[in-house]
Amino acid sequence: MTALYLHIPFCRSKCHYCSFSSCAGGEALYGPYVDALIMELTRLAEQHGATATEGLDTLFLGGGTPTCLPVELLQRVIRSSLDLFGAVPGAEISVEANPGTVERRYFETLLAAGVNRLSLGVQSFEDPELALIGRIHNRQEACSAIEAARVAGCTNISLDLMFGLPGQTPASWRNSLAKALSFNPQHLSLYQLTIEPDTRFDVFMQNHTISLPAEDDIVAMDDITAELCSAAGLRLYETSNYAAEGYQCRHNVNYWLNDDYLAAGAAAVSCRRGVRERRIADPGEYIRRINRQESVVVETEHLAREESFRETVIMGLRMVQGVSRSTLYARYGMEISEYYGVILKKLLDPGFVELTATHLRITAKGWPIANQIMAKLV
Ligand code: SF4
Repeated sequence: MTALYLHIPFCRSKCHYCSFSSCAGGEALYGPYVDALIMELTRLAEQHGATATEGLDTLFLGGGTPTCLPVELLQRVIRSSLDLFGAVPGAEISVEANPGTVERRYFETLLAAGVNRLSLGVQSFEDPELALIGRIHNRQEACSAIEAARVAGCTNISLDLMFGLPGQTPASWRNSLAKALSFNPQHLSLYQLTIEPDTRFDVFMQNHTISLPAEDDIVAMDDITAELCSAAGLRLYETSNYAAEGYQCRHNVNYWLNDDYLAAGAAAVSCRRGVRERRIADPGEYIRRINRQESVVVETEHLAREESFRETVIMGLRMVQGVSRSTLYARYGMEISEYYGVILKKLLDPGFVELTATHLRITAKGWPIANQIMAKLV
């Protein structure tokens, strides 16, 4: 499986909860950034003998907001990637898009370039919540963007929503989720808000300007999620992700399997043959280094065998199917029950995890304490 991630580090403005590597504005850098990104892709393809491989299984353009870029620039990036690396028949080609930056022609151009999956960052359909978290769009623009994607011909749409927002109630969460499901998306990513350091929300929390919903309300929101997603035929397959049959995000499943992936762009992280590389986050410095033919990698991590084994277990447990014992053995020559011994027994006995003939997975009883389970196995 060959997966390629491309990072577009620009946004129209910074959302109040966001800790992703992205900068607001930077329009003057759009063109030079795309030129630099294509140069890095060209080097990458040469290094990895792309022409000798069977092509990409997945290509994912994320950010930031890839759709901040004029569509012609994004089209160049996609076409260059496919020209340089090729793609297997039926490859998944995803772009993250934000309402407020897209309309039908934009989507038509992306689909013509080969994109077959759109992931829309809606976050909420309630205008007061959208304003509070600092999104650039309102409910009407979110609806228009989803409709435009459908009219353009996209048959694989994922919507991102957030719960646990300041001021959000179980009733308003029900409204947002029901509205999202009314568009019949193939996939939903539902993230609970966490307050990250150095975000505006971090400051607001310290100033007591905002407060988060009570734990009982979060539990009620979880129940609503289970009820509505099940009624809509979307199944939970990872802690935050639901999909219709056959529409799991293959690019992200590859991450959770802890398989190799290539990457390019500012702040992008790749992992190949036990070596993880992080690229410089500042887009201006990224462009300068590429133009001077210098390396853009600022951090290299060589993963030790045991560390990689444990990481694969933890990542795999995020998925409902769990982690495959035979895959682990084939990759590391280690058997999961022998490796963890008594630690695992303490999770198996009360029924928090189960060890089948093929997989280790978290049980329904274990999901509410999934983070604690993973902390024991890390
Ligand atoms: S649009 Fe996405 S990446 Fe950009 S600031 Fe908002 S959450 Fe962060």
